[in-house]
Amino acid sequence: MRKVYLDNAATTVLNGEVLQAMMPYFTSIYGNSHSQHTFGRDAVNGVDNARDIIAKSIGASSNEVFFTCGGTEANNWALRGVAYANISKGKHIITSSIEHHSVLDTCKQLEKEGFTVTYLPVDNSGLVSISDLLHEIKPETTIVSIMAVNNEVGTIQNIKAISEIVKFYGACFHVDGVQALGVMPINVNDLGIDLLSISAHKIHGPKGAGALYIRKGVKIDKFMIGGEQEMNRRGGTVNVPAVVGFGKACELNNRDMAFRDKKLFEISQYFIKKIEYEVPDIIINGNQNQKVNNIVSVTFLGIEGEYLVTLLDMKGIAVSTGSACASGSFQKSHVLKAMGRTDQEVRGTIRFSFDVSTTKEDVDYVVRTLCEEVEKLRKDSPVKYKKKDS
Ligand SMILES: *Cc1c(COP(=O)(O)O)cnc(C)c1O
Repeated sequence: MRKVYLDNAATTVLNGEVLQAMMPYFTSIYGNSHSQHTFGRDAVNGVDNARDIIAKSIGASSNEVFFTCGGTEANNWALRGVAYANISKGKHIITSSIEHHSVLDTCKQLEKEGFTVTYLPVDNSGLVSISDLLHEIKPETTIVSIMAVNNEVGTIQNIKAISEIVKFYGACFHVDGVQALGVMPINVNDLGIDLLSISAHKIHGPKGAGALYIRKGVKIDKFMIGGEQEMNRRGGTVNVPAVVGFGKACELNNRDMAFRDKKLFEISQYFIKKIEYEVPDIIINGNQNQKVNNIVSVTFLGIEGEYLVTLLDMKGIAVSTGSACASGSFQKSHVLKAMGRTDQEVRGTIRFSFDVSTTKEDVDYVVRTLCEEVEKLRKDSPVKYKKKDS
């Protein structure tokens, strides 16, 4: 049976060159990067080289990049660290209603701790409204957190326009850039970003490594306490092999970003054309003029996405409903809800996320299988479905 992995927004395969770069750090270069001796210094060299590569790739200085255990920790740190360090300015936070759970749940927790959070709405393509931001931001706002690319529908936010407003009000601008890194160019200075969260395993690096970019001068508390690692900003022994792998993955992504984007555009367009032609009553979600090419979210009217995921899995095809976290817990996608979709539409939505290695034959197989399974499910479905104009 053919195996097709179309869940690259959940995680990606480790690149072979990345694994090669990591290997010595598991075996011979095993020192603690915080030790004073040669073993430690060799590890430090690996970590600092990765830091240089990553900093360069986002237009930052090396001393503005701090390694974490992933995107989730970076998001937790950015929000909590800035909220508490700037309490004398105010206790107001702004984010959007379509953020990753690591942002939304941190905001919910901060609300319990006495902060006020505004969740900006989005339009039916997943774009945050700039006029809503203008309306809600105030002098007491300390941090505005908006993701660059949504992980469920792929919509790209107007980061530059948002940052200009945030700057004007003197707040700190945090961007969850996990789905943007390696997919589109991000320059923290051009875009006016103060804090940027990134993660290795979404770009063919290892799991368990990420980073928070912190612009020089930003007031932020420590999140992980204990130890003077990471320029005394993040306690804990550095995951040296993973960090080295993160650097390598970043280097490889930068080297062929344009090539990969072109390939991803071709394969996703091929998929969209084919599925629109062959499967009736579907909706392609997200902002088609302003989205990344590796994520395609499709609503199949009248079906249960959870069933379809299982049926496709039995045919060797890996996809998900919404995000990995949302589907694991059978929660309904907060992203699609925020985009104004009905419960039925939300339940019928599947995310296909592509990789450069995805072939036309893979797509042919997936669309053929979808045709069969969707037709079967619709026949069995007691719910009548009607295509909605959107
Ligand atoms: C995957 C993801 C995260 C979490 O990153 P981890 O490294 O898995 O903790 C955060 N934000 C977005 C948008 C993501 O897609």
